[in-house]
Amino acid sequence: MTAGYNEDTRRKELFEKKSARVAASYLRRIKELPDMPKEMEPFLDVLENVHVHFSDVEHETQQKTVGTFCIMVPNELIYAAGGVPVRLCSGSYTAYAVGDETVPRDACPLVKAVMGMGDIRMSKAFENCSLLAVPITCDCKKKIAGMLKRVKPTVMLHVPPMKGTDADMEQYLQELYRLVSVLEKTTGNRVTEQTLAESINQIGYAQYEMSRFLKYRRCDPALLHGTQVMAVMNSYAYMPVWKWAAQMGRLNAEMEKRLSERKFIGRDNQPRILITGSPVTFPNIKVPLLIEEMGGRLVADETCLGERALYDPVTVVDNSFDGMMRALAGRYTRPCDCPVFVDNKQRLYRIRQMIKAHKVDGVVYHVLRGCLVYDYEYKIMEEELGAMDIPVIRVESDYNEEDVEQLRIRIEAFIELIKLKNYAKQKKEGDRHG
Ligand code: SF4
Ligand code: SF4
Repeated sequence: MTAGYNEDTRRKELFEKKSARVAASYLRRIKELPDMPKEMEPFLDVLENVHVHFSDVEHETQQKTVGTFCIMVPNELIYAAGGVPVRLCSGSYTAYAVGDETVPRDACPLVKAVMGMGDIRMSKAFENCSLLAVPITCDCKKKIAGMLKRVKPTVMLHVPPMKGTDADMEQYLQELYRLVSVLEKTTGNRVTEQTLAESINQIGYAQYEMSRFLKYRRCDPALLHGTQVMAVMNSYAYMPVWKWAAQMGRLNAEMEKRLSERKFIGRDNQPRILITGSPVTFPNIKVPLLIEEMGGRLVADETCLGERALYDPVTVVDNSFDGMMRALAGRYTRPCDCPVFVDNKQRLYRIRQMIKAHKVDGVVYHVLRGCLVYDYEYKIMEEELGAMDIPVIRVESDYNEEDVEQLRIRIEAFIELIKLKNYAKQKKEGDRHG
């Protein structure tokens, strides 16, 4: 045995232990939130398999897995080519520490963690991927794509910075056609009109179940803990879509029963919070957890590992192959309100809509350190929410546990402020009527 081999093994063992400890402790805290529906357990088991036991994602032996790094890679194309998509945006603190050695200091922790995963080669979900698909959205993604190419076959997708014109759409459509041919080479299967239609339907089924689920998430008083909801959404990254959708169907049946029995959680007067901003990727689920542990009720999220991932259905008006490809190009850019696009008024509109639909009292704006695109939009969001008299707090966080206490103090104060505001409002209304 060489000294190099020993050092490598020791590093991997340390990584495995630390990573598993962090993921297991977040899973435990998620499960400890009271009244977790039983049908949520299979989703948490998947997170445990991938992040605590480092198992590969479920797939048939002959199926190739394809790692994706953004919702702008259409999963439909991967399924249509007989592959299985795995969303590899990482929330691992340990992988982040590894990536920190190779990625510049000011890069965001998500890409550092992705790079760390590539370096340490521990995660089977990452290691067993036959191809990585990286859309070029922000600068961090652009640079990480170049670095990932050194460890695995990688295809990059150019995402147009604007999406309003036919020319923008045409450019993205050509990128999707290019992706199809790379996928066909990787899996050895052709993408046909039939396989594409089937995969669009399968993902449509998942979207349908999620839209039912959101109805329960919106309930007032609340039926669900938002952190548990975000864990369910995160598990979509690692489950075959049909399996995720079928389990969502069972969870929805349990929620319907709870609603009919009026089995609500918590108290009526808990401030209803929406979280928006940089991705909240398991196990980095500390901000949602803190919101709920400090007495808030997380009733909505506008994040790309949450509601944004599955919110908009693909609308096919022309059933030809090209018609379906055009429908995908439209679905994966036009309604997407990620701030990587130049003009993003849509995000303001969407958040205004969510505030009304979910009866939101306050907004937590989450910025991962170094994530400039989300930080740029904070000011405009602050002004917009100010005009609506909705309190907002910007919380910046990194992939470690060192900032937890500071975040806890700020989030607690924010929730107390909303409680006082709500109390004053109720008192004023009471005085007026009494
Ligand atoms: S934040 Fe935007 S660019 Fe980044 S992964 Fe999510 S949708 Fe893609
Ligand atoms: S959008 Fe933000 S979090 Fe996502 S890769 Fe870019 S900088 Fe990182």
